[in-house]
Amino acid sequence: MSTTEVENYPGFPEGVTGPELMERMRQQALRWGAELYEEDVVSVDFSKRPFEIKSEDRTMRANAIILATGATAKRLRIPSEEKFWSKGISACAICDGASPAFAQKELAVVGGGDSACEEAIYLTKYASKVHLLVRGEEMRASKAMRDRVLDSSDVIVHYNTSVEDAAGNAQGFLESLKLVNTKTNESIPEPLKVAGMFYGIGHTPNTKFLDSQLGTDEDGFIIVSDHDKTSTSVEGVFSAGDVHDKEWRQAITAAGSGCQAAISTERYLQMNKLLKEVKMMDTKDAKEEIEAAKKKEAGAPKKKTHEPAIDADNFDIDRQKHQGQYALRKLYHESPRPLVVMYTSPTCGPCKRLKPMLSTVLDEYEKSIHYVEIDIAKDPEIAESAGIMGTPCVQVFKDKARVAVINGVKMKSEYRKIFSEQLIESSAA
Ligand code: NDP
Repeated sequence: MSTTEVENYPGFPEGVTGPELMERMRQQALRWGAELYEEDVVSVDFSKRPFEIKSEDRTMRANAIILATGATAKRLRIPSEEKFWSKGISACAICDGASPAFAQKELAVVGGGDSACEEAIYLTKYASKVHLLVRGEEMRASKAMRDRVLDSSDVIVHYNTSVEDAAGNAQGFLESLKLVNTKTNESIPEPLKVAGMFYGIGHTPNTKFLDSQLGTDEDGFIIVSDHDKTSTSVEGVFSAGDVHDKEWRQAITAAGSGCQAAISTERYLQMNKLLKEVKMMDTKDAKEEIEAAKKKEAGAPKKKTHEPAIDADNFDIDRQKHQGQYALRKLYHESPRPLVVMYTSPTCGPCKRLKPMLSTVLDEYEKSIHYVEIDIAKDPEIAESAGIMGTPCVQVFKDKARVAVINGVKMKSEYRKIFSEQLIESSAA
């Protein structure tokens, strides 16, 4: 989940961050005996029983599968999108719109469908004005949605308008948009001053790895049966959340859909005499075990990390992995390799998940990429100058220029792709 703040998940009256919510769900699943493998699935074979699931690291078999791979919000990919991502540009008004940075500011929403209209209306709660940027002559949204937008005095609709690029202020936050008239293809001379731009241009479901083995609609969303909303065209394969849900797309609706899929899966396994009951510890025992493990960990001597703190005495440029600001400065100025910097904080659960995963990926680039980890609690001035607004955050530098920023925890393949691109560019240069 890349969402920063989740304000509408029941049970969290103060709101909760997306990573924290995920971490809590993860711990809950572990407490009930789930085994987690954080890997990219590269292919599935639904023609075999049990089904076969391949990741880059292993092949697994399963009598039933729940697909919950979600959907990725489409982006415009304007030239400075990465620069202002999470610094004014977002793909989710519902999740990010309440940020104080947008309060009483002018904001823009891109798109002319139901999502964009809904986002524009939603943002009027916080913004002084919302500009809806529609690339065509008219909005594609349903009449009811269109009317809500057109009836609102706080939304200004700009037809035949698309975004060419964005510009920021001295603090690195979005300040204005460069627009184009799509009818004449000419740039609009006056930039649109906005503090935020939200994409409402649709979603791409993460179903490519299914290789057409399941029924999907023309956009790739899984088709689920009407009766339970989780069964797919392959018996024993179920779907949960945004990978089939185009409409609601909230953490709470996805969680509810996950629960439906789990119950349907259990019923399927039971009916087919495939259910193997695993005796779980009762909740009391499980809680005691977790508490005992925590106490043991707190009392145990601190484990030596594989990357010792680096200073002038022990800095070795031939090593791949480093820690701390001394190493960062040395590598930034002296390393001929792409430099990967991971910003972490001691209380950050997702950082703990990302570290071993990133380390495995970095092992594949042992001689070609340098890595340094910065604990933002130990090196706050470094974090501030790097504009870190949350952890984990991975930044990639090449020739002293920041070429990529990856917020949160992503799939291994995403890190691999970015690292490999940098190496290809280096060798081509
Ligand atoms: P849609 O595909 O319906 O609309 C996408 C919009 O984005 C279109 O206006 C499209 O323009 C525009 N767009 C796409 N690419 C670009 C681009 N590169 N630059 C500028 N604009 C672009 O997606 P939605 O997410 O809005 O809706 C998906 C489904 O979910 C729909 O069936 C919708 O009805 C449903 N939904 C219903 C809601 C409700 O009823 N409350 C709320 C949200 C969604 P163009 O029209 O020119 O192609």
